[in-house]
Amino acid sequence: MNLEKIILELKERYMEIFEELKDLNSYLFENPELGLKEFKARDRHCEILSKYGFFIEKGYCGIETAFLANYVGEKPGPRIAYLAEYDALPEIGHGCGHNILGVTSSAAGILLREFVNIYGGEVLVIGTPAEETDGAKVAMVKSGAFNNIDVAMIVHPTSGNLHLRSSSSQAMEALQFTFKGKTSHAAGSPHLGINALDGVINLFNTINALRQQILPTDRVHGIITKGGEAANIIPDLAVANFYVRSRNKNELDTLLEKVLNCAKGAAISSGTKLEIENYETSFLDLITNKTLMNLYEESLKDIGITEMKDSEDSGSTDAGDVSHVCATIHPYLPLYKDVISHSRELAQCTIEDGAYKGMEEAVLALTLTGIKILKSEKILDEIKLEFDNRK
Ligand SMILES: [Zn+2]
Ligand SMILES: [Zn+2]
Repeated sequence: MNLEKIILELKERYMEIFEELKDLNSYLFENPELGLKEFKARDRHCEILSKYGFFIEKGYCGIETAFLANYVGEKPGPRIAYLAEYDALPEIGHGCGHNILGVTSSAAGILLREFVNIYGGEVLVIGTPAEETDGAKVAMVKSGAFNNIDVAMIVHPTSGNLHLRSSSSQAMEALQFTFKGKTSHAAGSPHLGINALDGVINLFNTINALRQQILPTDRVHGIITKGGEAANIIPDLAVANFYVRSRNKNELDTLLEKVLNCAKGAAISSGTKLEIENYETSFLDLITNKTLMNLYEESLKDIGITEMKDSEDSGSTDAGDVSHVCATIHPYLPLYKDVISHSRELAQCTIEDGAYKGMEEAVLALTLTGIKILKSEKILDEIKLEFDNRK
């Protein structure tokens, strides 16, 4: 089958399932669920994937709201995974657009399935919960969910009118610093107390001084979650939560050592006891497989999208961890509207025409990328060579 014929067929098939995709997307929009509570989303994704012949495993990797949907062709071949997210944000629903993100992945899976019948191989849609909080992909990577997968693709919605290339995300560690002291009357017997809040304040001050000597790409930002009970009681407990981020694991390790020293110094100078722990899952940096990214960009061009720009590195995602175990891309589809991320306005956008236009383009390009990998051993070899060299 030549490219033109494949694209025509894909567009036709897409139109056939479009109403179902739209229903799924608006259902998710109306029923936003927080991370690890995405039962409705999991069930609706699985329902439609099962209808199109996928084998379904709910509670994949021991995570209740995760799922695996896969379809194995008769001939052996590449294993291609589309990753679905479907967690929402407190108060603002799908303000990150994970409804349309997940639907895009399931749709690409459904379209690629027919080509797995022709060329062999396997297509998987992997439901990965709680991107905004616990980052289930990290645990799923650890339990081997991505072993033997050849490529993993996920396309995130974004503001504006252009598709964005996958670039990198920051490696991130979520640290909680607990300072423990001793209460005493703040006016009557201050000399008998040990001020835990001073530990936290010292921590912020030394980290602020440290900023002069860290890389411009490093980020350290935190909040005080406990700072005492009353102004006339010297606080015996004060807690601060921080995110520490760098371009990659090596730079993060260097930065972490300095931040931990700030905390230790803060405890010594305030006379407090210090406990440090992770309060959320930490993420690795995203390594984009450029060969795979070029293939996706070429597929967008095949369907007439000729302009694309680089995404700016910002924040962290659990897709980073996936990119350390298999070739991964995390590009962006445009919502064809200017909106701020993590807002009610963005959530609203995900059920409008612009979002459906971006979704269609991403689904077609994702499927076309999959088809090219199924058809050509050479392309997969190049992707894998790049992956092996990056490791
Ligand atoms: Zn988000
Ligand atoms: Zn997101």
